[in-house]
Amino acid sequence: MKRSSTAILPGAVIGVLGSGQLGRMFTIAARQMGYRVHTLSPETDTPTGQVADVEIAASYEDLDAVEKFAQSVQVVTFEFENVPAPALEVASRFAPVRPDGSVLYTTQHRLREKTFLFKKGFPTTPFMTVHSLGDLRSAIQRIGYPAVLKTAGFGYDGKGQTKITSLAQGEAAFTAAGSEEMILEAFIDFQLEFSVVAARALDGSFAHWGVVENRHRNHILDLSLAPARLPDKIVREALEIAESLLESLDVVGVLCVEFFLTRDEKIIINELAPRPHNSGHLTIDAAVTSQFEQQLRAVCGLPLGATAFFSAAAMANLPGDLWKGGEPDWAAAAAFPDVKIHLYGKIAPRAGRKMGHLTALANRPEAAMQRVFSCRQRLARS
Ligand code: AMP
Repeated sequence: MKRSSTAILPGAVIGVLGSGQLGRMFTIAARQMGYRVHTLSPETDTPTGQVADVEIAASYEDLDAVEKFAQSVQVVTFEFENVPAPALEVASRFAPVRPDGSVLYTTQHRLREKTFLFKKGFPTTPFMTVHSLGDLRSAIQRIGYPAVLKTAGFGYDGKGQTKITSLAQGEAAFTAAGSEEMILEAFIDFQLEFSVVAARALDGSFAHWGVVENRHRNHILDLSLAPARLPDKIVREALEIAESLLESLDVVGVLCVEFFLTRDEKIIINELAPRPHNSGHLTIDAAVTSQFEQQLRAVCGLPLGATAFFSAAAMANLPGDLWKGGEPDWAAAAAFPDVKIHLYGKIAPRAGRKMGHLTALANRPEAAMQRVFSCRQRLARS
């Protein structure tokens, strides 16, 4: 790995592996600061490619294409968690990769991630590895019901996971997944989900945007509120965990820690995302430095920006489901002068697909939530 401490300055070219909305918002931040962006993914006309200087369509397994891509940029980052490790390894021979490929390697696989958290003493859900129906039976004996069976790799937004309350259900889910490697986790009857989006610079300095409260629908993030309405003690504990996690993973960039708050007020890490996160989107409109600009600053070896919020904020996702009755009523949404509309340029609005988001600022998170909900309601055509 090349690790130069020289700052990569405006005018330089940044390489983004992956081409979704996270890459798009990162690219917009990078271009605002005068950088150029090249993106590589298997698709064309992508959310990132639409705003980047160069869009390369190649498989992540095409290591010649990855090599050529890395040679054309000054630093490589990723916006997609499932970029295979060899692609990052090849890229790192030609440009620094930030965060380092080892961060992605640990966090893109649930078993590796949970094992890392457990070994380092971070609070996480009880879990067991499942390679066979025999393993499943012993895992259920240890963990009990309800439990959640998840594929070990390539899962996000609830993909590849099933809640189980009987052995028959577990066996059916294991067989249906057709996966060689799964993980059985205890189901947590949480009172709240929240996250900490944080950043670490090349020199080890740390920044965060406090604690964000999250609500999911069908396992997909639906709403984020900042600041989370949580006691100070819990906020402090979550921030301390985030700081020591970024340090132990030696992250250079942004990482999100997703938490559960249990009914008896304990905090448990659900998962890590080694990149800007959906729950940090509200920082674009509500904070001095957005999570995307922060990612840019970190990967370029610049000092981190201030993370103060202008006010409380809420963010509501715009899933593809909103397109069910036809193109949403954008004019009606624009009639909410205080709500910011973000769209990702995706063509096909599949159910559950994240097409965009809305953000509102207000003096209290609840008031901001009312604004984004009212606006979203007006968008849908029945
Ligand atoms: P994940 O893709 O693992 O982050 O899961 C997506 C969502 O599913 C989480 O944000 C939770 O709402 C829910 N979920 C996942 N794992 C568990 C669990 N062990 N207990 C309860 N809910 C879970």
